[in-house]
Amino acid sequence: MPVPVPYVTAYTNELGPRLDELTVEIRPNRAPQIAYVLPTPNDRDAHGNLWARMTRPPEGERGRPLFESMDPLRQRECMQGLLCQVCAKPAEREDGTLFIEWQHANEPPIRLDRIITDMPPLCPSCVPVSLKHCRFLRDEKSAVVLLVRKSVPSGVSGTLFRVVDNPIRWTTSENDAYCSFNKPRQPALIAQRLYRKLRGVTVVDPDSLPTV
Ligand SMILES: [Zn+2]
Repeated sequence: MPVPVPYVTAYTNELGPRLDELTVEIRPNRAPQIAYVLPTPNDRDAHGNLWARMTRPPEGERGRPLFESMDPLRQRECMQGLLCQVCAKPAEREDGTLFIEWQHANEPPIRLDRIITDMPPLCPSCVPVSLKHCRFLRDEKSAVVLLVRKSVPSGVSGTLFRVVDNPIRWTTSENDAYCSFNKPRQPALIAQRLYRKLRGVTVVDPDSLPTV
């Protein structure tokens, strides 16, 4: 049976916004913010963050999957709706939702009551598939399956843009910036990831999960 390409996976010919699609607009409070030259009602989330627009190739003409990257809009869809990142079906169950977490390099040891993640959940059927076939998880000894009683959207991350010339020329931040929903929004950010804060977390044995 062929290994499924996870729903959230990015593809080589699905591209983010071009620099000439971006502009600076002045808000009613006179503060500048990054915006699209041709705005649409879905550009921003409920917190006002501008999200990356992605190109979509015609049906059947997708490029090569980039297993190490997530498509921003499919990541957001799965994270917002608690959909399985592999099969895109609802991942939420009566007793909670399954996530996979691991020890990230250069970060303090995992504390189950402090996890904020950008990895969307999985349904019980897709957990063993991921542990077996995902190249990263197969080699990552610290990976744990978590049953999460409650999770709440907590923030976004993405690229920070800065205007360096007139007419507009942009530079972008080298690293992604995280912007918590509890803090003032970052007006120069183009969001590419939605995060959830996990609450009521227990580690579960992947072999104990129901198979349907
Ligand atoms: Zn699934």
